[in-house]
Amino acid sequence: MYDVIVVGGGAAGMTAALYALRNGKSVLILEKEGFGGQITHSPKVENFPGFLSASGNEIADKLFEQIVAQGVEFEIDTVTSVIDGEVKTVKTEYGSSYEGKTVILATGVKHRVLGLDGEEDLIGEGISFCAVCDGDFYAGKDVVMIGGGNSALQEAILLSEKCHKVTVLQDLPFFTGEARLQDVLFSKENVEKHANQQILSFETKDGKLCGVRAKDKASGEETLYPCDGVFEAVGLIPENDAFKGLADLNDWGYFDSDERCLTKTPGIFVAGDCRSKTIRQLTTAVADGACAALAACRYLNER
Ligand SMILES: Cc1cc2nc3c(=O)[nH]c(=O)nc-3n(C[C@H](O)[C@H](O)[C@H](O)COP(=O)(O)OP(=O)(O)OC[C@H]3O[C@@H](n4cnc5c(N)ncnc54)[C@H](O)[C@@H]3O)c2cc1C
Repeated sequence: MYDVIVVGGGAAGMTAALYALRNGKSVLILEKEGFGGQITHSPKVENFPGFLSASGNEIADKLFEQIVAQGVEFEIDTVTSVIDGEVKTVKTEYGSSYEGKTVILATGVKHRVLGLDGEEDLIGEGISFCAVCDGDFYAGKDVVMIGGGNSALQEAILLSEKCHKVTVLQDLPFFTGEARLQDVLFSKENVEKHANQQILSFETKDGKLCGVRAKDKASGEETLYPCDGVFEAVGLIPENDAFKGLADLNDWGYFDSDERCLTKTPGIFVAGDCRSKTIRQLTTAVADGACAALAACRYLNER
């Protein structure tokens, strides 16, 4: 039996593990894909205190190294349910069952899609969410980036360094990402930007993606943007449904919890992007990890 079982090995989960371990607790961390979570998709992080500039992978690797050095136990497996009781039972996709006195849910978020016809079939076949992972496939080619926030701008900057042309399409009348990122991206000669664009369809030829059709929301004018690939950065959605009996979800599916990271169930805590908050960043994720772990330690020490 573990003192703390952490579900999710992103920045929040790994920080929670670190704080619990340093408080002398035994910790198991379960991660379904790869330790690091979302930040591993970021080529350059320049706003994480203490790091002038680092790739998301570097930050993730250092966090992982740190918890391994502190004696964490870890498994790659998807948690499918948590059964509450004096002892919590954590069940996984591969049929394992683990017992913990407390559980910290740090399940993060996944990429939102537009929901257009044919989109699902094109994912991985022309549509991508990660310039770091897939950008090289489009070296010297034309791509469209859909989105106008920080993630979209960062990804587009990376793409502009290897692609022939990057067209950034945003559905709002303005771009919402940081001004500095906008300056860097939109000063590049091979980058074009169009705001107010409602994406209508993905165009294909012989089954291959060849363009994005969009409508100007002000003029109604339709434009076909020819391209070899599309990168989407249109928001994130939580995957918390499996745990909704333990922690209330808000209207958008995020765990309804404040910075104390508590839930309605004693011994169950939440941390990071998966909970309701206004700022989803590394700094807020690691802050949650620390708060959730210390709340779990307090719960354990009081019993
Ligand atoms: C492209 C991109 C660029 C970014 N750039 C920056 C930046 O420059 N600066 C910054 O501060 N922030 C940046 N962010 C945001 C930052 O990455 C996140 O806010 C932060 O990493 C969230 O950490 P988290 O641990 O809460 O969630 P996540 O990173 O989403 O981690 C959650 C983890 O839980 C796992 N998981 C989910 N469900 C289960 C389950 N049922 N069982 C087991 N495991 C599960 C997931 O696989 C994932 O690894 C960026 C994000 C993206 C996508």
